[in-house]
Amino acid sequence: MMYDDSNIFARILRGEIPAKKIYEDDHVLAFHDAFPKAPLHALIIPKGKYINIDEFSKKASEEEIIAFYRAIPKVVEALGLGEKGFRTIANTGPDGGQEVPHFHIHIIGGKNIGPMVSA
Ligand code: 5GP
Repeated sequence: MMYDDSNIFARILRGEIPAKKIYEDDHVLAFHDAFPKAPLHALIIPKGKYINIDEFSKKASEEEIIAFYRAIPKVVEALGLGEKGFRTIANTGPDGGQEVPHFHIHIIGGKNIGPMVSA
């Protein structure tokens, strides 16, 4: 599968559509989900063109991977989720229910998120 430059997160990275930014550095952008599934719902994305976690983990440089992981506590702190906790989700492909084909993780919290998956 080829990376689709017209996907919504590519457009956010190019500044073509706005996003409520939480954190940014050379390799990573974090912003609020436009359709939050809980009181706090953030998305963390690499700036590089990776479709999903599988491709990112195979092809990204160590610098990109480290930057991505280091962004997680920055977002958690910015949202004040450290004490109460949160759910981290990376949907991948059709069976994973991935809608936007640019790798991202969801950070979801601000209430008890409930069971890990529904049957
Ligand atoms: P996925 O289903 O691919 O794991 O998650 C995609 C997420 O992107 C969804 O939670 C959806 O609400 C969010 N989303 C879709 N369009 C936009 C947008 O234009 N801006 C922002 N900030 N989030 C979006």
